[in-house]
Amino acid sequence: MAILKTENLKKYYGKDTTLVKALNGVDLEVGKGEFLSIVGTSGSGKSTLLHMLGGLDRPTSGKVYVDGKDIFKLKDEELTIFRRRKIGFVFQNYNLVPILNVYENIVLPMELDGTRVDKKYVKEVIKTLGLQEKIYSLPSQLSGGRQQRVAIARALAAKPAIILADEPTGNLDSVTSQDVLSLMKITSQRYGQTMVMITHNEEIAQMSDRIIRIEDGKITGKGGEANA
Ligand code: ADP
Repeated sequence: MAILKTENLKKYYGKDTTLVKALNGVDLEVGKGEFLSIVGTSGSGKSTLLHMLGGLDRPTSGKVYVDGKDIFKLKDEELTIFRRRKIGFVFQNYNLVPILNVYENIVLPMELDGTRVDKKYVKEVIKTLGLQEKIYSLPSQLSGGRQQRVAIARALAAKPAIILADEPTGNLDSVTSQDVLSLMKITSQRYGQTMVMITHNEEIAQMSDRIIRIEDGKITGKGGEANA
């Protein structure tokens, strides 16, 4: 069964002359454990789609199912809790807290959520991402590639079923991008997580299991169905 599924998903912004159909009927399925890339030019609707998949924003119409559950039937508070427990986000700008060290950044979402930190697991994730020497460093003391690895560790630490990544290598050079992406792939495979990444970088997208394309808020060509 698909772990992530959308049905005729639409998101419109503005109205009348300012109406923008950011998503205009997206049907998509992602299999459990699959690593999917969504590519498209700037303004094609990628971020809007990722926000809907993660329940960060509500659609104009249509559905998003996570593990068979219609997530927009949830009230705002329930949706927030659901998101914290099921989904890990990785953004282009890392979004690390500058006054917290690497370890504190990684466990922060769990502490905010009041969930128990599985220290053994967190340690393993830190090791897999090659951050063990840096756990007491502040983000400003790290390179961009390392900061993004911290953001990935933070996304993985709560053991989410799904990782949603928005241009995760957008601020990194091409060698570092490949390294970071390889690590994301290794960790998501190791922990059985499903990963959806949006990017405009074809080379980076090639590292995923499947690529779909979006144009003017619609998936173009075939490829909306899950492989797995
Ligand atoms: P991408 O991530 O592919 O660059 P977006 O999903 O950010 O594309 O945007 C898709 C379209 O929706 C664009 O035309 C953009 O200007 C518009 N859009 C996105 N967010 C908003 C918003 N909050 N208000 C109005 N228009 C928006």
